[in-house]
Amino acid sequence: MVKVAIGAGHGYNTSGKRSPAGEREWSFNNKVVTATVKYLYEYQNVSVIRLDDPTGNTDVALTTRTNKANNANADILVSYHHNAYSGSWGSWTGTETYHYPGSSSGIALARNIHPSIVNAMGLSDRGIKTANFHMLRESRMPAILIEGGFMDSTIDIKKMRDDEIMDRTGKALAGAIASYYGLQKKSSGKSYIEIVTEALWTYNTANWDDKAVVVNKGEVFTVIKDRFPVGGGYMYQIKSGLFITANSNYVRYYTK
Ligand SMILES: [Zn+2]
Repeated sequence: MVKVAIGAGHGYNTSGKRSPAGEREWSFNNKVVTATVKYLYEYQNVSVIRLDDPTGNTDVALTTRTNKANNANADILVSYHHNAYSGSWGSWTGTETYHYPGSSSGIALARNIHPSIVNAMGLSDRGIKTANFHMLRESRMPAILIEGGFMDSTIDIKKMRDDEIMDRTGKALAGAIASYYGLQKKSSGKSYIEIVTEALWTYNTANWDDKAVVVNKGEVFTVIKDRFPVGGGYMYQIKSGLFITANSNYVRYYTK
């Protein structure tokens, strides 16, 4: 089981920590972190320890955050932020990732995660950097702090205001963590059949004489009723409501 400790930097009401238009940094951080957690749970053998207050009401102290990650024996720690340069609008821009100076496991984690965040945000790459930040110094596991973009950038704020980009960035972060550990996706529990013969009849009802339409090799259908006996053979029912043979000479059954 891979344990991922992740937190959105600050709290909703933390002073400073807002765009020149008054938007809260935590809100942007939270969008990415919430998406990351959602997408991480699409993988097997992973659990998430959230370090900030998911309601945003409290700005959880940094020591409380690192204690929580350390006590849970988290495997990695990700602290998610958005930057500010001057507090007034400007054209500075880009994504950067920090690790603790000299931490080889922190560097390795940063190298595996950072390019995905740069790509998802679609901003310039400010690179991987080092800093003596509490979250990086006081955590016992490989730790990174990501600055997705600048809240006081007229370029970056457009990305941060786009919920689809925030979601996509969370998905990229989850995907990068998953690939770092070689995590496999959970099964959706859905079953499918693929037609493996050139052409094959479907049936309107569970009756071999009630022919409907012909389907072709390579077509894939979602199974809504599993294999059941019909007049000496077997059928599936597919999503359109039609029925089809379950004979493995004609259809390949799989779950995903
Ligand atoms: Zn921050």
